[in-house]
Amino acid sequence: MSAAQVNRSRPIYLDYAATTPVDARVAGCMAECLTAAGDFGNPASTHAYGREARTRVESARAQAAALVGARPGEVIFTSGATEADNLAILGLARGARAARGAQALHVISARTEHKAVLDPCRQLEREGIAVTLLTPADEGRVTPAQLQAALRPETVLVSLMHANNETGAIQDVAAFGALCRAHGAAFHVDAAQSAGKLPIDVQAMGIDLLSFTAHKLYGPKGIGALYVQAARRVSLQPLMFGGGHERGLRSGTLAVHQIVGFGAACALAARMMDGEAVRQAQLRARLWAGVGSLPGALLNSPSVHALPGVLNVSFAGIEGESLLFGLTELALASGSACNSDSDEPSYVLRAIGRDRETAQSALRFSLGRDTSPEDIDTAIAAVRREVLRLRSLAAVSASGGEPECVASGEAGAREQGTWVRFMLKMEGGTIAEASHQAYGCPQTLAACEWLSGQLRGRPWADPGLGGALDWARALQLAPDRLTRLLVIEDALRAALAAAQRRVAPG
Ligand SMILES: *Cc1c(COP(=O)(O)O)cnc(C)c1O
Repeated sequence: MSAAQVNRSRPIYLDYAATTPVDARVAGCMAECLTAAGDFGNPASTHAYGREARTRVESARAQAAALVGARPGEVIFTSGATEADNLAILGLARGARAARGAQALHVISARTEHKAVLDPCRQLEREGIAVTLLTPADEGRVTPAQLQAALRPETVLVSLMHANNETGAIQDVAAFGALCRAHGAAFHVDAAQSAGKLPIDVQAMGIDLLSFTAHKLYGPKGIGALYVQAARRVSLQPLMFGGGHERGLRSGTLAVHQIVGFGAACALAARMMDGEAVRQAQLRARLWAGVGSLPGALLNSPSVHALPGVLNVSFAGIEGESLLFGLTELALASGSACNSDSDEPSYVLRAIGRDRETAQSALRFSLGRDTSPEDIDTAIAAVRREVLRLRSLAAVSASGGEPECVASGEAGAREQGTWVRFMLKMEGGTIAEASHQAYGCPQTLAACEWLSGQLRGRPWADPGLGGALDWARALQLAPDRLTRLLVIEDALRAALAAAQRRVAPG
């Protein structure tokens, strides 16, 4: 039984694409490799403790290899998919440079890749290697024709993911693999989202390097693997230097308990994959039937080639972070930028052609082994409730239709992420009632709510509430929220000016 099931007061977990709980059977195997009574030895030691640990590690290596159709000797353990991606991309390109000297080198990847692929590619650019990032065509999928067109004589590496972590889009890796083989370029696949969920056969798919990670398939965090094709002698430069572990590609004492957990999770995933794929696809269809019928719902996941457990949906006119904030009974991810440094909503959704506002309004539902039909029904009811509530809050009513006694003022724009309108009802010199409409982050909505409450009963000529800086202090908001509060301040100023004009026309 999962922790989410044990503790009913916690929200329903619908964020399995971010991480999964460790399966209890997996945790049991890990526990056998920790204490004095267990197989705690260093696999590099030659005594009995070392041999026991080594046996454990090698059987886990076989389990991990079997999940992707590799031979055990082709699997290098890493700290996760991020490290595996870095080792594959930096290691291959630097290895090629060492072998080829001053020759120009070229690498191909895509804009929708995980940061663990994009950032090493950016690093290669800094090291003087040319990088082409493909923009996926329809439904977020790169076409084989796009890859074919991008291949150059000097292309040494193509890195394209199997399934996308935000949209669940599944790429035609077998077709990419065939093209890379024909061209003589190495082919790396980030399979962090697909390993244990979709069948993978590195031989049949023409894959030379493949990254996967335990914590996305009900294993522990901090352990993953890179498959490195042996027959074609793909040669990598290591990132880590030390004791020469893992064929010299990843020095450092092997984390036996992590590796054993990873292996057990792979074996379990292999057994459960087919049944779970069918079950989760049904739940996903049920979810889409429930939320897709809401006005303005837009599917960001491909209709056919998508992971069974991932559904990414935008809700037109709704700010994603505020939607998340209201969905207190659910734990899931949004495409919103409210809480990121960049202020740019999901780059993946932008790269598949969604505008800022649509990307900002996206929710990613990701289902897993513990997701039940009841969970889906709860999710549907909650999303319907919040979408309707926020839509009415952000409804732009025709300004001509307001009663005489109401002065209104607005500022900002949805395209910029924040839009606010205040409506003041005056009685003599005081504000009898204040209300607002708003589109924006939870903090923006909360600040508007607070101001509407504060305005009541105050003189409209000077409500004495100060400005954005004072409100940030009163609401204990971080200074980086100030630009959004300034929009609110502008809207309030406009409403108070309108009140002035109402009372003293001309
Ligand atoms: C989660 C994920 C990663 C990173 O994996 P870690 O093991 O957390 O480092 C890389 N790529 C994709 C597609 C992912 O979903």
